[in-house]
Amino acid sequence: MTDLRKLQKLVKRFIDERDWRRFQTTKELAMNASVEANELLELFLWQNERALDKKILNKEDTVFLKKIKNETADVFLACLSIADQAGFDLEEAFVSKMKELDKRYDKKKVYGDPRKIPSKE
Ligand SMILES: [Mg+2]
Repeated sequence: MTDLRKLQKLVKRFIDERDWRRFQTTKELAMNASVEANELLELFLWQNERALDKKILNKEDTVFLKKIKNETADVFLACLSIADQAGFDLEEAFVSKMKELDKRYDKKKVYGDPRKIPSKE
């Protein structure tokens, strides 16, 4: 079993041990993923971009880094919860998505320039 599948199993057990499944719908979990993503985004709101990069890359502010880690983990937990509720393998979905992106963004065409997004056909 891969590490991601182990994590998905951990989430399933966490939910079942608390009898929370009956309160969770895929819609609620999707909304939760959005809320958690916005909590992560809120950490960056009104902050100077260069100062932020310095704080993060130089690990100058451990409290701030801990908040980023916590909120990122919340987003990840929300994604795992959706996969658990909807009954799909997140690892498989992720690998499939990466293959799709690899095709869409030909590395020879977009190398070094993220603005070169292919037009829709
Ligand atoms: Mg949170």
